[in-house]
Amino acid sequence: MTVPRVTLNDSHLIPQLGFGVFKVDPGETERIVSDALEVGYRHIDTAAIYGNEEGVGRAIAASGIARDELFVTTKLWNADQGSETAPAAFDASLEKLGLDHVDLYLIHWPTPQRDLYVESWRALETIREGGRTRSIGVSNFLVEHLERLERECDIVPAVNQIELHPYHQRRAETAYGHDHGIVTEAWGPLGQGKYPLLELDEITAAAAAHERTSAQVVLRWHLQQGHVVFPKSNSRARIAENFDVFDFELSDDEMRAITALERGERVGGDPLEIN
Ligand code: NAD
Repeated sequence: MTVPRVTLNDSHLIPQLGFGVFKVDPGETERIVSDALEVGYRHIDTAAIYGNEEGVGRAIAASGIARDELFVTTKLWNADQGSETAPAAFDASLEKLGLDHVDLYLIHWPTPQRDLYVESWRALETIREGGRTRSIGVSNFLVEHLERLERECDIVPAVNQIELHPYHQRRAETAYGHDHGIVTEAWGPLGQGKYPLLELDEITAAAAAHERTSAQVVLRWHLQQGHVVFPKSNSRARIAENFDVFDFELSDDEMRAITALERGERVGGDPLEIN
């Protein structure tokens, strides 16, 4: 199965479907990421704060897959923001991953109370110039934060990774991304299992019509809008199920019915509050 790739504004390519490892236990990460790589995933999304970069790195090393076939993302944690600390945090992540470069490095949260995201972004610009990350981006940035980077920095983020699922569709951020060439990565694409998304009539009807599962329908809804997604599961069966989404297509009516579910309801943290 070949996963479509999306072209970033720096001309690097990112596989549109990946595997996320938030809350994957560090002791189980190597096994679970190895499962994902065997199933066919070639894009892994981790973060320093997840505490499992070593396990991701071990799975990659054991896989024997050529480095240039893999896309690895990690993220700068809030406490490490700043011009002095960000480069050291980046070095530590590479060391834990056992890699000489990552494909994408993100500022995890804007943490406006710290007011360090602009200088952190300049540090990421320098890291990118050094070639040890191919691309740089942000996560959980609201339009006001993106606008400030636009005013005060040089490089436009390649991606903005934000909470996005049918109850919380982030129209302002996706429109800004569309206008400025910033790819939207949807975290919590399945709503983190925190509301009965997979049981909603609009989803189950499409699942029945296509003889697929509700999770596959929701992932199609993301993919057909151009979002990059990396659903997480510890179960090999679900890891495979979530990967098997490239041989059917939702109709315009099915897409519209799911889009109409918007409620502006977050399941995760508030980007203005997380610090
Ligand atoms: P998700 O929406 O991927 O949901 C994961 C939950 O859905 C799990 O509890 C799993 O049991 C369930 N699930 C997975 N596949 C299923 C299936 N086929 N059928 C039924 N249930 C299924 O939530 P997530 O893990 O939070 O988000 C995905 C990734 O996004 C993370 O692993 C992480 O890489 C990233 N993320 C980033 C941020 C950020 O602040 N940047 C925050 C959260 C997550």
